Amino acid sequence: MKTAIIGAGLAGLSCALTLEKNGHTADIFEQRKEAGFGYNIAELMTPILHAPINDAVKFFSETHDIHIKPTYNVQKIYAHSENESAYVEGNIGFINLRGDHKYAFEKQLAEQLVHSKIHYDQHVSYEEISKAYTHVVLATGDPQDTQQIQPYEIALKSTFAGAIVKGDFIRNEVHTWFNNHFAPKGMGYLLPHSKTEASLVIVYPQYEAEWVEKRGEFWEEMLSQASRTLNQEIVVEEEFTIMDYMVGRCKYPRIGNTFFAGNCFGAITPFLGFGQTGSILSGIYAAQDICGLGDYEKLCKPLYKDYDDSLVLRRAVESLDNHQLDLVTKSLHNAAVKKIVTQPNMSVLKGLSHLLKPFISK
Ligand SMILES: Cc1cc2nc3c(=O)[nH]c(=O)nc-3n(C[C@H](O)[C@H](O)[C@H](O)COP(=O)(O)OP(=O)(O)OC[C@H]3O[C@@H](n4cnc5c(N)ncnc54)[C@H](O)[C@@H]3O)c2cc1C
Repeated sequence: MKTAIIGAGLAGLSCALTLEKNGHTADIFEQRKEAGFGYNIAELMTPILHAPINDAVKFFSETHDIHIKPTYNVQKIYAHSENESAYVEGNIGFINLRGDHKYAFEKQLAEQLVHSKIHYDQHVSYEEISKAYTHVVLATGDPQDTQQIQPYEIALKSTFAGAIVKGDFIRNEVHTWFNNHFAPKGMGYLLPHSKTEASLVIVYPQYEAEWVEKRGEFWEEMLSQASRTLNQEIVVEEEFTIMDYMVGRCKYPRIGNTFFAGNCFGAITPFLGFGQTGSILSGIYAAQDICGLGDYEKLCKPLYKDYDDSLVLRRAVESLDNHQLDLVTKSLHNAAVKKIVTQPNMSVLKGLSHLLKPFISK
């Protein structure tokens, strides 16, 4: 058996690690000079929509012997709408770094490999690789690669506008903004990298061409809102824009001995765009199938369900205007609602659906 993994990201490396733990090795091809996402940002890892996994870090460690150390645990998430602000507290998830950061998740995963070789600086295509290997795992993080091979249903394409910013931040507090004036049908968020550095980002679907054109204007508004909310000057260090970022899912997780993992599978839950947990899971599941320990299609079923449930929630939130978003935010002041949203061992989806129900039916 000869396995090739295209992409040394979260899915590809989790796949390689699981293969190793079961006595197999893989050739991993990575187009960059080292393991690392293309953006040096912070991301959020939350249990949202992956019930019953409540603590993904603990789960990967104890169940799959894959160890990742996040930078901070999140204790408080603020939601800001046009005229309201509220927060929820509890063990809400983790902040972790990506990209060139020394402790980026993909670097941590790469360091755990013992026998598999990562071939850096190798941009390879499925076409050329598939001839020389018995098994191929497509884990390039780019659904367009999946589309070359099979149908990929797109839920939305997104625009990101953001920056690494400097300021004075509380490390385990995250801020989110839901305001259609500058993040139409999307959101803004601030994730601290440290006490003095953070990722400040807006992400929204590209439903209207005008929204894409206005990304600079929206971003400036986000920046001034963040400065106002946090009551300080936020200084931009390094700006970035991403367009046409696809959120969707492939029709077939596996075709013959080709496996689609991570974003190439459809690991992003469309509601808020979290894809890290699903990407790692899909990489593990692909390896389990290759090792004869499971059936990838069956193992992926809960991921498809998470995706579908999350898409329903996204469509619901997209239907809310700013006034309704204010009402949802206001309801977070209610102790009973706070408890539902943050209660451990409960499906966060259920909690959120419960929270949104009265506003959506209006
Ligand atoms: C700006 C932004 C913010 C995000 N925030 C969050 C968040 O807060 N929480 C969350 O859970 N998710 C978030 N996501 C989504 C999450 O990052 C992805 O779902 C996840 O990284 C996908 O993992 P992957 O392994 O499929 O791809 P990646 O981690 O992107 O890895 C793919 C790898 O393949 C390599 N590659 C690509 N093409 C080739 C080729 N032809 N040959 C060789 N190598 C190749 C790439 O260089 C890369 O290293 C965010 C995404 C973006 C863009």
